[in-house]
Amino acid sequence: MRLEELIDLSILQKLQENLNDIYSFPTAIIDNESNVLTAVGWYDVCNKFHRQNPACEKACRKSDQYIIDHAHITDKPITYKCVHGLVDCAMPIIVNGAHLANFFTGQFFLDPPDVDFFKKQALKYNFDQDEYLEAVRKVPIWSREELDKHNDYIKGFVKVISTLAESNIKGNQLKLDLSDQVEISHQLELEKTISKKNEERYLTLLNNLSAGIVVHGKDSRIIINNSVASELLGLSNDQLKGMEAIDSNWYFFNRKGQVMSAEEYPVNLILKSGKPLKNYIAGINQPKSNKKVWVSVDGYPAYNSSGEIDEVLISFIDITALITSHEDLVSSKAETEKLNKLLASITDNMLDMVAIVDFSGVYSYISNSYKTLGYVPESLRGRNAFDLIHPDDLDSLLNQFNQSLNKKTETKAEYRFRMANGKYTWLETIGKVITDNQFIIGSRDISERKNNLKELLEAKQKAEESDRLKSAFLSNMSHEIRTPMNGILGFSSLLSDPETTHDDRVKYVQIIEQNGDRLLSLLNNLIDYSKLEAGQMIVQKTDVDIHEVMNNLKILFLEKLNKKGLSIEFELDNAPPKINTDRYFLEAILINLISNAIKYSDSGIIFINIGRANNQLTCAVKDKGIGIPKDKLDFIFERFVQENVSLTRKYEGAGLGLAISKSYIELLGGKIWVDSVVGEGSSFSFSIPIEG
Ligand code: ADP
Repeated sequence: MRLEELIDLSILQKLQENLNDIYSFPTAIIDNESNVLTAVGWYDVCNKFHRQNPACEKACRKSDQYIIDHAHITDKPITYKCVHGLVDCAMPIIVNGAHLANFFTGQFFLDPPDVDFFKKQALKYNFDQDEYLEAVRKVPIWSREELDKHNDYIKGFVKVISTLAESNIKGNQLKLDLSDQVEISHQLELEKTISKKNEERYLTLLNNLSAGIVVHGKDSRIIINNSVASELLGLSNDQLKGMEAIDSNWYFFNRKGQVMSAEEYPVNLILKSGKPLKNYIAGINQPKSNKKVWVSVDGYPAYNSSGEIDEVLISFIDITALITSHEDLVSSKAETEKLNKLLASITDNMLDMVAIVDFSGVYSYISNSYKTLGYVPESLRGRNAFDLIHPDDLDSLLNQFNQSLNKKTETKAEYRFRMANGKYTWLETIGKVITDNQFIIGSRDISERKNNLKELLEAKQKAEESDRLKSAFLSNMSHEIRTPMNGILGFSSLLSDPETTHDDRVKYVQIIEQNGDRLLSLLNNLIDYSKLEAGQMIVQKTDVDIHEVMNNLKILFLEKLNKKGLSIEFELDNAPPKINTDRYFLEAILINLISNAIKYSDSGIIFINIGRANNQLTCAVKDKGIGIPKDKLDFIFERFVQENVSLTRKYEGAGLGLAISKSYIELLGGKIWVDSVVGEGSSFSFSIPIEG
């Protein structure tokens, strides 16, 4: 049925033109396929500009389409403002319930046009700006009241068109002659068959959807439903249609499990609000099986031409699995909470730490005893245990845990764990897999045990070292005593031989004296050392003349130096002539250092510098001897230490000289240090405080 078949459009065109002549009132009748049936007074802004530019026209078409799509929903004119700010009004022309065309009026402005906007439009679409703005100016600006008046007029005009068209239909029918009756009934029969076929086609389509579909009439009774709907609702098609003879066990319930009242049923909500419904969750208690099914419901109302709800279309999908998995999650969470509470009641008073971690290391339970590491136990929940393990211990620990994971065995590990204050402590942990992704771990702070062990190890090492030193000392001593003793005894027996010449006797006596000296010096060293060890060495300070000490030393070492072809040089920097100190200690220190310099040098000058820095006497003994390897420098001041302890060593000595010197210097409140390069020589320096 088309409007032009029912009414003489030229009359309408004429009427519209006349009206427009009296009072500028642009109008048009456009059918649903966008055919312009009548039109008058359309403004240039649309005809000459907007609808002429293809890009711009797209927006015009959008407005047309909007009006076509929405006009039939209401019996009032609908107003549409296009992207250009121009307003159109449209009123559906309905004949015998069929929407045939729309009566348009427009365009007009409801607010004064924004000239800048239209200037930009001219630039964008390449319109002649002056002409375009002139066209815009011609568009009338209507107030809302004016618009209402226009709409009232249009409403009346459209009613006249509809009534005219309907009466024309009736008139035509009266004209039909009886012979046409046969033809009509035949045609009706044909239409019936077609509509039945269509219904079947739609039902097949509906039944193949995975969503439940129900169409309700405006009285909420079910008109049609598909098989999924009856399956999900747990009701037969017949039960659904009449909603009668329904088992009292059938009901809808909400998320709280409460039975829904009829007002809460999706269809009733839509009928009441007139609005679509989206993602409405409802539970269904199916009567026969007593099975509970969850559905998500969408629905919307369909309006008739007079704007009343005609039908309500409802679709729903099964979301039971989704809801139950969520419920499972909630209940497993509750289970975990229960387990945690139980564990807390057992572990809260334990000294050992108990925790549950998942396989990725995240804590889900922490016992109260983690307080001992400075943590608020709750603050560890959700943190990763592996982040708190000392980086050097992490790899081996992960390895161990992975192995226990694979073998499902218990595992034990010792590692350093970060406490709340950032320091590390040693923990011993036993871990066991308890679920398919969780460990339970029990940990104990073993830092005290570890420290004791460390101390024990150090003590053991010390004991072993002193044992080694003792053995070295004994073998050294026996060598140091035997050598001069052998000399003394051997040459004494030669002396008693009557055949020994006088010259030889003199030589032998000298050797016996030398060996006696060596023995005496060893014994003196030993006595001094044991006195030092026993704390019997007491500082006795007197005024000591440095020059006198130097001269004595020169005399003492003259022979030894000559023998080795060495020379000695003393340099007195700014040393005071007299100092108040222990003479015996000072001489013993210098004798020892100079003896060593001579012993470990084959050539060169032994240089002795004595000076003063602040209130310290400074002294350095330098030689150009064999030097001391770097790695030995730290040890040479320890007792019984010789750089070379092998029996075949070249240099005699008990390894006591430097230890004794160091002790004397410390008793005097000073310190000693050494610089040495192998092959170039050594420089032993010390400083002692002096008064004045
Ligand atoms: P010793 O009686 O063996 O000389 P010391 O305690 O006096 O014992 O010296 C310890 C070690 O220090 C020596 O065995 C030697 O290896 C090294 N040493 C001491 N003084 C010198 C030096 N002037 N030149 C080279 N090595 C030295």
